[in-house]
Amino acid sequence: MASMAIGGTELDLEAPPASARGAAAIMRPIVGRFADLLLPPVCISCRAPIGSHGLLCGACFARIDFIAPPICARLGVPLPYDAGEGSLSARAIASPPVYDRARAAARYSETMRELIQSFKYRDRQEGLPLFARWLKRAGAELLADADLIVPVPLYASRLWWRRFNQSAMLALSVGKLSGIAVDCFVLKRVRRTASQVGLTADQRRRNVAGAFKVEKAHRGQVRGKKIVVVDDVITTGATAESCARALKRAGAARVDVLALARAVEPAAFLL
Ligand SMILES: [Zn+2]
Repeated sequence: MASMAIGGTELDLEAPPASARGAAAIMRPIVGRFADLLLPPVCISCRAPIGSHGLLCGACFARIDFIAPPICARLGVPLPYDAGEGSLSARAIASPPVYDRARAAARYSETMRELIQSFKYRDRQEGLPLFARWLKRAGAELLADADLIVPVPLYASRLWWRRFNQSAMLALSVGKLSGIAVDCFVLKRVRRTASQVGLTADQRRRNVAGAFKVEKAHRGQVRGKKIVVVDDVITTGATAESCARALKRAGAARVDVLALARAVEPAAFLL
């Protein structure tokens, strides 16, 4: 039980205001809320019994490798030592990304992969309020003066098949927690792209090149704005770059990227 208390304390420290908790709860499906009343709370990862709904057990919490400073100011990846504020990784210097800054809550470990996959493909949304708090903390710098949060869009038919866009759900939850406007329509996926699973970095880049667009009618919402793009995972960063390119072309003043997890080289678990 001691380890469970560690997870609980950590989460209590950053508990959102009651209004945000209420808003997040409304977003959960009615069936889910019924289940909460009927079923005892379980860990959102391993399903072990715990004290409250929507949290991780101590053992699973301990397996999440949260990204903490020192980090690369551009890519948000951990740095081996603290070289002062604004330090850059070798990769960010060698090939600077199109986006301004990226931040992620945790490394893309096996536990994070399982958490995100069950959220994405198995409709398990009970972790959403917790994920939103992780994103808000990891993206504090980006959100401080952001004008707009934009989720990475799915192609229309894929959205229908998967029934919801997990990035939009994350974006809406972070928007509510941080009081920043969210627009799920300014950025559009104009081309159906192959799944990124199993593709090399170069193939991923080609796969998503030109896949996103800001249509003329929406350019006014983007021009001169400081935008945070929200996604579930940053692997090679190809999707983030493609979104950032489209938003910058439409006149965005700044484009940052915020994700739950980031593959930190070597990329062991590419989606
Ligand atoms: Zn667990």
